[in-house]
Amino acid sequence: MLPSTHIADVEKSMRYAQESDDRIVFKRFDVSVEGDHRSHTVSYDEGLWTCDCEGYEHNNYCGHTMTMERVLGEMVRLGELAIAESSGEAVPATAQA
Ligand SMILES: [Zn+2]
Repeated sequence: MLPSTHIADVEKSMRYAQESDDRIVFKRFDVSVEGDHRSHTVSYDEGLWTCDCEGYEHNNYCGHTMTMERVLGEMVRLGELAIAESSGEAVPATAQA
């Protein structure tokens, strides 16, 4: 038989997950994004995305950081993607659909 604390934790996790918009804030993490030619390390730190690719070095955003913003959506604070779209510049074709 499962201890009652385990059951309480499961119930809590279900409720917290449903309320994730209010309860969960990503602070920092690294992910590997598999590009067409090689993989890139994308990092997130308190709202700032970085990537180890050349595109990021020139623009402070790139297809890899934008990919992560799309995948995670509102789970993370929008950064350069939101800026690019609101200024009407450098909007990828997929964003206009
Ligand atoms: Zn990149």
